[in-house]
Amino acid sequence: MCGIVGYVGAKECTAILVNSLTKLEYRGYDSAGIAVFEGDRIKTVKAKGKRKEGLIKKLENEPHFTATAGIGHTRWATHGEPSENNAHPHCTDDKSVVLVHNGIIENYQELKDKLIKSGYAFYSQTDTEIAVKLVDYYYRKTGTPLEAISRAMLRIRGSYAFGIMFHDHPGKIFACLLYTSDA
Ligand code: GLU
Repeated sequence: MCGIVGYVGAKECTAILVNSLTKLEYRGYDSAGIAVFEGDRIKTVKAKGKRKEGLIKKLENEPHFTATAGIGHTRWATHGEPSENNAHPHCTDDKSVVLVHNGIIENYQELKDKLIKSGYAFYSQTDTEIAVKLVDYYYRKTGTPLEAISRAMLRIRGSYAFGIMFHDHPGKIFACLLYTSDA
């Protein structure tokens, strides 16, 4: 099981995100990460292992954050080993779109093959990276986050939840959830 948290508000949010992830620790996880709007870019920090030995230690070595909006994730690996590279958030090469994900993308291989044909390259073993690059693909076509997310959701099969940030839309977090059941 994984956990997703998000914050948009007046306060500096890094500690809020990390403390919120702590509340999800009971769910068990193998890695954790955050993404925040810092200055004019999206900054990501992620680490393998439990919060204290992993993410918090990494954040201690980072310069002080001023961000007031961001997302966080605790991962329970389903696609790809537990590692920093496979930890969420996942992003496009230029960090124009950044995404955290709970669940499984059943048709990820088919979508990955199509994205490779469209020129995308992949750095992780996760199904999640397919989602962020598919959203980016439609964002480049449509120019609007909601349209891009809706179109990506039409293509993705499975049960999942996403938290998404777009560099072009600072201070905003987009979220969606699709639950399908065969029962
Ligand atoms: N399937 C995704 C992965 O393996 C998300 C797993 C989760 O829900 O934590 O990274």
